[in-house]
Amino acid sequence: MPRFAASAIAGVLMRAHAPLMPPPSRAFAGLAAARLPFLHARAAAASPYSSPRLCLLPWLGSSRSFCSVARASLDGAAADSAAEERLQESELIFLGTGTSEGIPRVSCLTHPTKSCPICTKAAEPGNRNRRRNTCILLRHAAPSGTANILVDAGKFFYHSALQWFPAFGLRAIDAVIITHSHADAIGVSALQFNIINEEPFMVHNLEVIPLPVWHGKGYRSLGFRFGDICYISDVSDIPEETYKLLENCELLILDALRPDRSSSTHFGLPRALEEVRKIKPKKTLFTGMMHLMDHEKVNDDLAKLMETEGLNIQLSYDGLRIPVRL
Ligand SMILES: [Zn+2]
Ligand SMILES: [Zn+2]
Repeated sequence: MPRFAASAIAGVLMRAHAPLMPPPSRAFAGLAAARLPFLHARAAAASPYSSPRLCLLPWLGSSRSFCSVARASLDGAAADSAAEERLQESELIFLGTGTSEGIPRVSCLTHPTKSCPICTKAAEPGNRNRRRNTCILLRHAAPSGTANILVDAGKFFYHSALQWFPAFGLRAIDAVIITHSHADAIGVSALQFNIINEEPFMVHNLEVIPLPVWHGKGYRSLGFRFGDICYISDVSDIPEETYKLLENCELLILDALRPDRSSSTHFGLPRALEEVRKIKPKKTLFTGMMHLMDHEKVNDDLAKLMETEGLNIQLSYDGLRIPVRL
């Protein structure tokens, strides 16, 4: 196994609202600035252990203002305390759970003769078959403050952010970790990166353990372990040495592209299930589904595995939020 995964890169985004700071005295392994379509960020001093926040809205810089605005967006005292409670726990938010092309597929909706039942459903707003590129946001609530850590920002990221950031009161990104260099993982581009080797690293006081996997022959992607949560969005094979990093996994989030078979670059459902039986996580959520995976039908089938084998497995969906302990 090569020591470095050339395709695995991460960037820590910088504070946007602050006045221009002096040049970095100790750059985060050469990392500098970020530009997203809806914001501008400036390079600033950074270390792997304490990176300033990047704010989507420049006048909201600190964790405190993030909290107060999130609270203000909810109505009444009950909502206020619910929001307060929410902000004190860590959580995982699925911003995208679909394959590269997105669901519904444009080609399914415009086909002159065939109609695709799943893409037709997915075209309805709010339907759980509607999926954008795989992307999670981990809100790490720590005594020192809350950090929003994004895993992947693919070509549909703007649309995910547009829908889910207001819905979940998200106003800042503190770090971005990229699994691999495909456009559905790194589509927003113009970030400047530092390469992750396959050793554990720290992001905002949270230890992140890379989970090296194959994503097609000879191409490496990384999954990541945060506490007892393991996230592997793009995988066709798991090297033997990665299994030990997956031990005692509480929640496994795993690639499952299609219902019938694997592709050369992704697990299909049968292989993903085999891996779940081998890894034995307490709970599994599949992600990265293409249009052949009907949310309700596949979930009904998966629910039967609870009865027959005691396996707790479901499909994730865009907008799913789970409280987590890190
Ligand atoms: Zn379709
Ligand atoms: Zn990929």
